[in-house]
Order: sequence, then structure tokens, then C-alpha cells
Amino acid sequence: MGQYVAPIRDMQFVLHELLKVEDELKALPKHAEIDADIINQVLEEGGKFTSEVLFPLNHSGDREGCKHDAATSTVTTPKGFKEAYKQYVEGGWAALACDPDYGGQGLPVVMNNSFYEMLNSANQAWTMYPGLSHGAYECLKEHGTDEQKKLYLPKLVSGEWTGTMCLTEPHCGTDLGMLRSKALPQADGSWLITGNKIFISAGEHDMSENILHLVLARVPDAPEGSKGISLFLVPKFLPNADGSIGERNPIFCGAIEEKMGIHGNSTCQMNLDGARGWIIGQPNKGLQAMFVFMNAARLGVGMQSLGLTEVAYQNALIYAKDRIQMRSLTGPKNPEKPADPIIVHPDVRRMLLTGKAYAEGARAFTSYVALQIDRELNHPDEDVRKEAADEVALLTPIIKAFITDNAWIATSEAMQVYGGHGYISEWGMEQYVRDARINLIYEGTNTVQSLDLLGRKILGDNGAKLRKFGEKIKSYVEENGLDEKMSEFITPLGDLGDKVTKLTMEIGMKAFQNADEVGAAAVPYLRVVGHLVYSYFFARMAQIALEKEDSGDNFYKSKLATARFYFARLQPETATLIRQARSGSANLMALDADLF
Ligand SMILES: Cc1cc2nc3c(=O)[nH]c(=O)nc-3n(C[C@H](O)[C@H](O)[C@H](O)COP(=O)(O)OP(=O)(O)OC[C@H]3O[C@@H](n4cnc5c(N)ncnc54)[C@H](O)[C@@H]3O)c2cc1C
Repeated sequence: MGQYVAPIRDMQFVLHELLKVEDELKALPKHAEIDADIINQVLEEGGKFTSEVLFPLNHSGDREGCKHDAATSTVTTPKGFKEAYKQYVEGGWAALACDPDYGGQGLPVVMNNSFYEMLNSANQAWTMYPGLSHGAYECLKEHGTDEQKKLYLPKLVSGEWTGTMCLTEPHCGTDLGMLRSKALPQADGSWLITGNKIFISAGEHDMSENILHLVLARVPDAPEGSKGISLFLVPKFLPNADGSIGERNPIFCGAIEEKMGIHGNSTCQMNLDGARGWIIGQPNKGLQAMFVFMNAARLGVGMQSLGLTEVAYQNALIYAKDRIQMRSLTGPKNPEKPADPIIVHPDVRRMLLTGKAYAEGARAFTSYVALQIDRELNHPDEDVRKEAADEVALLTPIIKAFITDNAWIATSEAMQVYGGHGYISEWGMEQYVRDARINLIYEGTNTVQSLDLLGRKILGDNGAKLRKFGEKIKSYVEENGLDEKMSEFITPLGDLGDKVTKLTMEIGMKAFQNADEVGAAAVPYLRVVGHLVYSYFFARMAQIALEKEDSGDNFYKSKLATARFYFARLQPETATLIRQARSGSANLMALDADLF
């Protein structure tokens, strides 16, 4: 069923040549000892684990799905998932980027990021189990009490226990202010929580001995809306003081959803019937605490889509070189055979290059953001930490929405390369399209991400964060503007930067008159800014490739061709997107709802 080979050469290019990660990490005392050898070793080992252990379970996991037993409220994951998880835990993979104080290996986020790309390429559904645990770890580490951290973090770090995020209820997904689950205080300091959660990923399964649910609920007399939400830690089994498993807590899976993709991941209805929990952080401040989890998950969803883009592209490429149909328009390229391989056809190349460009753009972008997170967490200079944090905040909705939108396009193009063979399940390509689709929806739909970017992150701070990031691009353009060889990349980058500045000001002005202008512009606006970010990284990657074009290493030729394709074929959609964003809200709002 196809193949997955971790793109280690491109990962090394991004980490060592583009981002110079080794030098950057030297400025962070905690990671100053990390050198290229350590990074490369983790990439190699990660590549083996993901392609040899997880990838073979991807298609079978999709076919088999998870099974719910109503009598016992248990969920069985597809064959092999549990054993692969055991190997993952025994290999220490869960602990890679976790704090050594809790048993972690303390490696930088930027290394974990590359590993997560591999995990997601190999098996997105499986990766959601440990992926959510990592989000729970981050949230608890930042907002838990010392006692909670001591009891729970080592179990999450080792991977013995997994985590979930329980936000959604039947009547509220985007609008969490409406949630109804209730928490009643108990004399011993714990709370009893009652309510129904839906769509909870990894809510019940057989891969770990305990599951830690992070649940949003309301305490008595909480204010209405999102200001009255608190966060609770609700373990499936109540732990004893020594960390061993105790009594079963009444938080049960009532059913699992039948769904379009990610069949190997259980999407659970969770019923809490007076389940015992402990508050994380302050009452009524739960949403702020949960945002640590949500931000981690938003970056994680971007990584899911990068993973799918890469694996779908890899397989489409193999197929396009093997499948023979028709002759090249410029004459036979394979005269001894009855037809040419389909990779000779320009449009097949367009489809392949779309996947290649979106994978390489996303790899550079997400690795850059991961490195910024390392700086935010560990740089000794407070100003640098603050600047990095602002950039991460600005770029997070773009990672979530732009990469997931692109993966939907890229996996569909990869399936198209197979013709009808892509649509049937035998080759595994239709699974990538189905799996990719959820990434546009959960963790805040892509519309919600666009509103977050334009409304909150950009207009909400008068464009300060965007200006700061824009200055980086501007100085890069100024430094390289006179280099003739670079003009094919620098000119469209500088031009798009100017257009984004103008567009932002124009929407900002219109929004003063009518708030719907933000909602009407947000989705195309995010895509335009996403392309600005990719243009910056493709220009920088092309610059390195130009310098090494004659080195004899074909990798650089390939990189340069991809950058040229990106600027010629993908970035120009910004012209249409800018027109859409500028067209205003009237064309959307004119029709009364009952006239549709
Ligand atoms: C497979 C799967 C796994 C999931 N995993 C989890 C999980 O682990 N934990 C968890 O808590 N939840 C989970 N979810 C829930 C998911 O996060 C929500 O489905 C998502 O946030 C959207 O909420 P909703 O489905 O209620 O849609 P709604 O909020 O009803 O939105 C419907 C539509 O209206 C749009 N919309 C809403 N408000 C606005 C607005 N202000 N402006 C413009 N458009 C708007 C939305 O973008 C969307 O297109 C999962 C869902 C699925 C399907």
C-alpha cells in the first residue's frame, strides 16, 4: 500500500542550511549542546520508526476503524495500534521534547516538530493519540499546581497515560461561551462534573492504562458566556497517591462517531455523570488556560496537513513515473514502450509540483515557527522572548488554516495523478483526501482562524505584530533587491508585501464603519498573508539553492525549480484573493436570509 520515506534531506536543508538551527540553539542555554549530529540522528531514527512501524498500519487502520462496546463503554483501536504505541513509549519518543524534571529528554521543539511531520505522514489517525497527550502536558505544565504536575506529568511524559481535550458539546462548538457542563465543589477540594461532550478525539481507547481528560465546565454562579468557564482535570481512573491506578471515574464513552476519515482515531461522545475532577488554574479562567492546549493543537493540525501533503506527493510521484499513458506532446520519450510515463505531461507535473511546493513551503514555515517557540521558551533575553512569542501568536492561525487548505488541494491533486485508481481505495490515495478534510474543521474552523488573524492578531493590535514580521521581509528585500539573480523571487515578494500593507489598512478603515467587513475579508486575507510568508521562505530557499546550483548536488536544482514553480503558478492566486478581500461585505449581506 504505497510507501513513506521520511524526507530527511529536505528536513536537513531546512534545519541546517535555511534556519541554521545549530547556531540558533547555541543562544539558548538549555539547548546549547545540541549539534547537527544529534539532530540528524533523531531524524534518522524517527524516519525508521514512522515508516517501518506506523506507516504499515495506516491503510489497515482506516479500513478497520475503532470499535465501541456499549456494554463495557470500551473502545478497541485497529489491529496493531496498541502494539505500535507500546513501541513508541518504550523508544522514549513521547518524552522527546518534554521537561527533564518530569522524565523528559529536553530536546528542542524544532526537533520534535520534524518528528511530528513524520508521524503524521505515516499515520495521522494514530498520531492523534500521542499528539493530544502532548497538548495536555503543555497545558498542565503551565497551569497545574505543583502537586498536579508531580502526580500527572511524569505519566504523560512517559506516554503511560494519554490526554484529551473536552470542549465541544452538542449545542456548542465554535461558541464555547454557551457550554453547559457543570462542576460542583466538594469538601476535599475536588469537583464533581456532570455534562455531555461530543466529538472528543481519543476520548476512549485501549492504548494506554489511563486517560486524562481536560474538561471545560461551569462552576456554580459562574458569569454567562466565555468569562464563566473553568478547566478541570478528570482522569478516567482516579490515581492513588503513588501514581498507581485506582477507582474508575464515571466519565464514559457512550458512542463513537461514524465519519469521513481518520477512522483509526476514536471520536467519542463522553458522558460525565458526577465524575471527579480537579480544577486547573483559577475558576472562570479556564478558557485562558485551555488556550495553551488549543494553540499547541492548532500547530499540531498544521503538522497533520504537512504530513499528509508529503506522503500523498511521494506516492503520486512514484506512480507518475511508472504509469504509462499517451505520448508526450513533444514526441515519444519512451519509444520502446507503447506509451510514455504520465510524468511527461505538463499538467501531471503541475499536480506533482503543487504537492511538492506546498510540502516544502510548509516544512520551512513550521520549522521556523517551532524554532521561534524554542526562543520564546528559552532565550535569556526577555525582549527576544517577547518578540518570538508575538510572532508565534501571529503565525499560529496561518499554520492552522493555510497549511490545511493547501493540503486539501495537494492531496486531491495527488489523487488525481492516479486517475480512477486514485478514487478507489486500493492505492490508498483517497484516504489522504478524506483524512485531510477534517483538518480544516477542528481546532477552530479555518474561518475562525481567519477571524483570529485579521480581527484579533492584526487589527486588534493596530497591525503591530504584522508590521514587525513585515520588517523582517522588508529588510530581506532591501538587502537582496540589487542581486539580479534573485530578482525573479525578490520582486514578487516585495510587491506582495506592499499589497498586504495596503489591503490591511483598507480593511481596517472599512471595519470602523461596518464590523461585517472583517468577516467578509478574513478568509481570502489569511490566504494572501499565507502566500506572503511562503514567498519569503521560498525566496530564501531559492537563494541558497542558487549559491549551490553548480555544486553537482541535484537537490539544489530541484529546490530552485520548486521555488520557480511556486512563484509562477501558486503565488499568483493572490491577485484574485486580494480582489475578493477588497470586494467588501455588501455582496454577501445583501440577501435577506429568507430570500436565499
Ligand atoms: C473528527 C472530529 C474530532 C474532533 N475532536 C475534538 C476534540 O478532541 N475535542 C473537542 O472539544 N472538539 C473536537 N471536535 C469538535 C470541533 O472542534 C468542532 O466541530 C469545531 O470547532 C466546529 O464546531 P461545530 O462543529 O459545533 O460547528 P459550529 O460552531 O456550529 O459552526 C458551523 C459553521 O459556522 C461557522 N461559524 C461559526 N461561528 C462563526 C462566526 N462567528 N463567523 C463565521 N463563521 C462562523 C463555522 O466556521 C462553521 O463553518 C472534533 C470534531 C470532529 C468532527
